[in-house]
Amino acid sequence: MNRLQQPVSALAGIGAQTARRFEKLGIRVIQDLLFHLPVRYEDRTRLTPIGSLAAGMTAMIAGRVEFADVLPRGRKSLIVRIADDTGFISLKFFHYSANQFHAFAPGVLVSCFGEARYGYAGLEMTHPDYQIVADAEHFALDTRLTPVYPLTEGLSQNAIRKAVKQALALCTHDSRLLTDWLPERLLRQLRFPALQQAIQTLHTPGEPGASVALQNGSHPALKRLAFEELLTHYLSLRRAKGVNQSCEAPILAGDPVAADHFIRRLPFPLTTAQRRVIGEIADNCRKPQPMMRLVQGDVGSGKTVVAAYAALLAISSGYQAAVMAPTELLAEQHYRNFSQWFSHFETKVVLLTGQLKGKQRSEILAALKDGSAPIAIGTHALFQDGVEFDRLGLCVIDEQHRFGVHQRLALREKGHQSGLRPHQLVMTATPIPRTLAMLQYSDLDISVIDELPPGRKPIVTSVIPADRRGEVIARISGWVAQKKQAYWVCTLIEESEALQCEAAEKTAELLAEALPSVRVALIHGRMKAAEKDAIMQAFKQHQVDLLVATTVIEVGVDVPNAGLMIIENPERLGLSQLHQLRGRVGRGDSDSYCLLMYQAPLSEMARQRLGILRDSNDGFVIAEKDLELRGPGEVLGTRQTGAVHFKIADLSRDADLLDNIQQIGEQFFREAPDAIQPLCDRWLGASTAYAEV
Ligand code: ADP
Ligand code: MG
Repeated sequence: MNRLQQPVSALAGIGAQTARRFEKLGIRVIQDLLFHLPVRYEDRTRLTPIGSLAAGMTAMIAGRVEFADVLPRGRKSLIVRIADDTGFISLKFFHYSANQFHAFAPGVLVSCFGEARYGYAGLEMTHPDYQIVADAEHFALDTRLTPVYPLTEGLSQNAIRKAVKQALALCTHDSRLLTDWLPERLLRQLRFPALQQAIQTLHTPGEPGASVALQNGSHPALKRLAFEELLTHYLSLRRAKGVNQSCEAPILAGDPVAADHFIRRLPFPLTTAQRRVIGEIADNCRKPQPMMRLVQGDVGSGKTVVAAYAALLAISSGYQAAVMAPTELLAEQHYRNFSQWFSHFETKVVLLTGQLKGKQRSEILAALKDGSAPIAIGTHALFQDGVEFDRLGLCVIDEQHRFGVHQRLALREKGHQSGLRPHQLVMTATPIPRTLAMLQYSDLDISVIDELPPGRKPIVTSVIPADRRGEVIARISGWVAQKKQAYWVCTLIEESEALQCEAAEKTAELLAEALPSVRVALIHGRMKAAEKDAIMQAFKQHQVDLLVATTVIEVGVDVPNAGLMIIENPERLGLSQLHQLRGRVGRGDSDSYCLLMYQAPLSEMARQRLGILRDSNDGFVIAEKDLELRGPGEVLGTRQTGAVHFKIADLSRDADLLDNIQQIGEQFFREAPDAIQPLCDRWLGASTAYAEV
């Protein structure tokens, strides 16, 4: 067995307990240690004259003890003053032994490393790393930078350093242990060091000059590892696509008569883009390999009816279809739309949400299991245990960025009863720039609905400071007098939903007071689903004029008569999220408005970002510009679920690497397929199951 694949407890000094602590850092086998990189480095290679220290500097110094004293004042502490030719400094210890105290005899030479701060009597270092230098003649500084590792409770820097050192020694001793899967030609082309060398450098940087490049992430050793990691993510998705293509799926040839009937009975003609995407889906579903297709389309582009058409393909071929939405609100809306669109067919559409209990629930479960319900719409409840399908042929996942990859997998697993893998359609309105798409969606084929239904007018967006609130309120009053409806969206930076809801409650009260003739209602995420639904229904039926909401209304909700939206503190949200929110208006054929009401002062960056939103109604343009301004790390970081996590790569820092990944990945895929599994083991480890999604 490769020694690097042995558990860390095979190393000297690591028992079962320490091994468990290492495991908390994701380190199980010896090889994991090699990829556990320092977060930073300490430079103990040169001495800083004490006189040139300044507060905040971390440095290595050496000096002779002038005196050592225990200060009873405040918290009892040991103060040791040392000095060199240029100045003095105090070392401060709150924990110390009598032996330590006595060792600091006047005249003794002490070297220490720590951060200088202002203290009681000038500069001091608290609990520095120190050594008493017995033999000043032979005092030697470190020749290499000292790595500082991420820690976990119960593990010291020294414990990790020792373990890493042993792991490195193993590789030096036998260079075959750590395989470099990147071909030499590629390394030369990209000017990357070989794996072994990169790892040695990162753990024990030789040249002190490397410090800056290592710290800011531009060092080729670090770039090389980041590149390998990104490449591996790409390859794992590419492979998942290949695996998928080798599975068998039901053939959903559809029924031209039914399709024709369906399209003719729709209340609107399909757009060219919708027809094109429907064609792509139909071509896919006709084949015995499972479709894995992403439909990207801006808010309001009409993705739902495309999903309905796909469902029709399934049911008219004798299979079931399941449509999963991220919120109950949205599931219910889809349920109503589907019920209407399929009303001319003998097709039972059922709705399965977490709310559903008792007899109703068991009836629906029975109908899904015996196949008498061909179409199921629902939330996460669709893929919980106990939900079984008779012949699931298609899964649709709406607003896929709201789901984790594992939920996507779980729903598809439901199809395995029939021995075939269902076709999968995922839909998103959140456009993702091309360079990033290849890290998230390389397992999927992509269709784009790049056209809005005719007659949509662009939403007129303005950016205004919150001190013009009075004007805004007056505007609502005039708007509602024209029998139109509006949204008021409260946002808070706090993660806490409770606080968001509280803020929304207060705002609703204040607005109701300020606008006595306006029917104000409140909707937020902590309400019971039934309550939310009742309010949404009331809003749809125009029993409510102004809906005060938290960001729960972000996805999908469709009320064409509501053409005015006020968003408070828009500077706190990502641009894509704002664009989604704003997409709630502009659904009818009259003019619509969005007021972004910010809290002054606005940073330059925030001003630019809100400006992008004001100037464009195109989700793709907005996403690209946001990417330019904020960098991919930020942009991807704001999508909570479904995001890819990296060990070493940092999309903000390593954005330059993305350009090459796809092209090199494709070549790699063809030329070195055997390297993919070991790379996945190395970089994705336990999370590899996700590659199979
Ligand atoms: P999204 O892509 O944001 O999910 P929806 O599917 O909710 O968009 O559609 C938005 C609105 O546009 C809905 O009211 C829908 O009925 C309507 N719609 C969809 N397609 C068309 C079309 N081709 N012509 C007119 N209206 C359409
Ligand atoms: Mg939608």
